[in-house]
Amino acid sequence: MCVGCDVRRLGAMTSCVNVCKRVHQIEVELLKETDKVEHSLLLIKGRLQPICASAQQLKATLTLRKTEQEQLTQLSAASEFKLLFDLSKEDSKSESSSESEPAVNCELQLRCCSGQRQLQFSYQPRRSAYRVQPLYLVCQNNEKEKDDHEQEAKQRCALIDLNLRLVQCIYAHKLSAAGYRNRTFTLNGACCVFRSQLSCQEARKCSEDELWQRFASEILASSAWGQQLQLKFVAFVGCTWYNGAAVAASGDYSYTNIRRHLHAHAALGGGGLALFGSGHFYAWPQRFADIGDCIRSTERVDVTRLPDESNYRRTYGGVYASTLGAVCHELGHCFDLGHTLEGVMGHGFDYLNRVLTVDQPTEHLPQRMVSTPAAEATISPPRPRFTQLKIKQPASSKFLDNYHTQRRNDSFYFAHNCALILAQHRWLQPDLQANTSAAPEIQLLPANKEIVSSVPLRLIELRCNRNSLAAHYEEFKPESATYRFQLPDSLWHLLATQRTHYVFVLTIEGDTKRLAFDETPAGVEAEPAQ
Ligand SMILES: [Zn+2]
Ligand SMILES: [Zn+2]
Repeated sequence: MCVGCDVRRLGAMTSCVNVCKRVHQIEVELLKETDKVEHSLLLIKGRLQPICASAQQLKATLTLRKTEQEQLTQLSAASEFKLLFDLSKEDSKSESSSESEPAVNCELQLRCCSGQRQLQFSYQPRRSAYRVQPLYLVCQNNEKEKDDHEQEAKQRCALIDLNLRLVQCIYAHKLSAAGYRNRTFTLNGACCVFRSQLSCQEARKCSEDELWQRFASEILASSAWGQQLQLKFVAFVGCTWYNGAAVAASGDYSYTNIRRHLHAHAALGGGGLALFGSGHFYAWPQRFADIGDCIRSTERVDVTRLPDESNYRRTYGGVYASTLGAVCHELGHCFDLGHTLEGVMGHGFDYLNRVLTVDQPTEHLPQRMVSTPAAEATISPPRPRFTQLKIKQPASSKFLDNYHTQRRNDSFYFAHNCALILAQHRWLQPDLQANTSAAPEIQLLPANKEIVSSVPLRLIELRCNRNSLAAHYEEFKPESATYRFQLPDSLWHLLATQRTHYVFVLTIEGDTKRLAFDETPAGVEAEPAQ
């Protein structure tokens, strides 16, 4: 045997076996020892400290109900990692949280280079009187065989369940990052099929607003769901149809044109209903194991066949991020959020991919403009919408700002005032019983330019009538027990003289109210079903 070979083999071996002599620690963000996790998909973010030159992978083992789930994940250049686990029982992936499941103990073991970390926590599905029910809306249709239809509906319900559990997880993760523990919405149960009186042909002729109005009234009039005041609904229209041939024939691949040829589609939330189309489900994962591949997919969208909605990324991964991000955004309106410039309630909802991944390059997506089409505003109360896209290249200093913000919080976060509203909101608090006390009295007193409430104030926002963008907000600490607030002259001017803004009020008990100066709330009800 040649010596040279042996030397080479030895060299190869030492680089395979660990040459790192450093003592590493594995840091885990947000999840703490003895935590009680209440949502079924758990996102874990952490890093290896100090950075390791030789370690590339982290091995995670989760033990619960006497079974082990193992994951091998790639570390980023900064030695960061993210893991997603499904804590739900195999036979009840989307079961109702009403029947109480006992808490189960979970043990998480992380290993990477010389670093080791063990964490114990428990999992028990959250319970609250205030819940969110997913629905799959099926219109009347003679075109297809009924069996085909039922099979498809079943599959789509499962897809909706999985992705809403992911939205629930992202809400919990983001609110936890903002300092609020155990805040997310509670799912009422598995996605149900809702049969509409509307035919597919009719639905495809309706505007987004008409669809929202029609389905909202049908759900409220139904015997199954109508009387349940503690339910909000997330509904998906089954018969969304994209006329890709017409787009191809026109040669116009702009978003305006793509949207014009997408029928029975919506992305609209407010009050008790967030409504969406099903046209982008092609980019959504059907199974838990597919989530990572879907979010990272760089497959190009063929816009002659499939509707693109990715803020110019034109990839399957981009479509998934933008459309699931839109679910987070519209659901935010159902939880009384207005718009912000940045973050989930601003143009940041496209960045949902960053929540689940490490080491994605900084993206500079065009800023979506917050506006209301004039035509809509004259018929119905204006509703905040992202309707136009505008290409805007960031200036060089903006480039760095973007870079740092994206690094810090994935670009996908709830702004301070939004997180505060969500943390206080009835639909996001854990273990809440139905409130039977009368609504508090909240009034505007023009004589003193004051807002007066019978329950202490938590937050006041001055929101623009046109796009519900908060011009200003005022936070009150619960311990200060503030019952009244006098508006500064500049804000009073917007409210009473210009009448371009309304006041959104949140109390420490989670009551909300919108107040306008002239009490005729045309343009005040930014969200429809109030
Ligand atoms: Zn190392
Ligand atoms: Zn919005």
